[in-house]
Amino acid sequence: MRLEHHDFRPADLVGGDPALDLVNTVTARDTQPRDWLDDYSALLRWAQRSGAFAREDLSALEILAADAPAKAAAALTRCKTLREALCDALYALAHRREPAEADLESLDQARLAASRAARLVSRDSRLQTLWTAERSGLDLIAHLVTAYAIEMLRDARLDRLRVCDGRDCGWVFIDTSKSGRRRWCDMATCGNVAKARRFQQKQRD
Ligand SMILES: [Zn+2]
Repeated sequence: MRLEHHDFRPADLVGGDPALDLVNTVTARDTQPRDWLDDYSALLRWAQRSGAFAREDLSALEILAADAPAKAAAALTRCKTLREALCDALYALAHRREPAEADLESLDQARLAASRAARLVSRDSRLQTLWTAERSGLDLIAHLVTAYAIEMLRDARLDRLRVCDGRDCGWVFIDTSKSGRRRWCDMATCGNVAKARRFQQKQRD
C-alpha cells in the first residue's frame, strides 16, 4: 500500500465513529489504496482532527514519540494491524458475511492489550474505564479506537454499516439517513462524481 502525506480535513471524518474513521485513513481501497498514515505524527494529526481524543493525551503522545521515534514507528505498525483487521471485519459485516477468524483473533488481541492498560475509576459515583498515556504509552490511540470498535461492533446499528459505492473510495460509514439508503460516504464528493459519471454515460449512449 502506497504511503501518502495528507492534511486531514473535516470531510475525511464521515464514518460516524472514530473506529470507522481510522479505517478511512486508507483511501481508494477499491482501486489503488493510499495510506494517509505516513508516520506517527500523521496518526496524531488524524486523532486531533477527529475530536475523539483528549488534547492533553495527544500532547503527551507527541512528547513520547519525539523521545522514541523507533517505538513510535512500532506503535504505528500495531495501530495499522488493528486498522486492517477492523477493515476486513467491517467489510465482511457490511456485506452480510461472517468476519474471518484471523481478523477476529487480531481484534481480540487488540482488546486484550487495551484491557490490560485500562484502569477502572470512579467518577460521580459511576465506574468508568479509563485509558491514559501513562499506562498505554504510544498505543493510547490504538487502545481507545479498540474500545470504540468493540462498542460499535456490539451495537445494533450494524445493519446500517455501509461501504461507499464511489470509485477510488472504499470508505466505511454508518448510514444514519432516515430512509437507510445512503450509498456514498459523502454526497458532495463521491455522490456527485457518481452522478456526473452517469450523466456523461447517458450523453455518450
Ligand atoms: Zn466515498
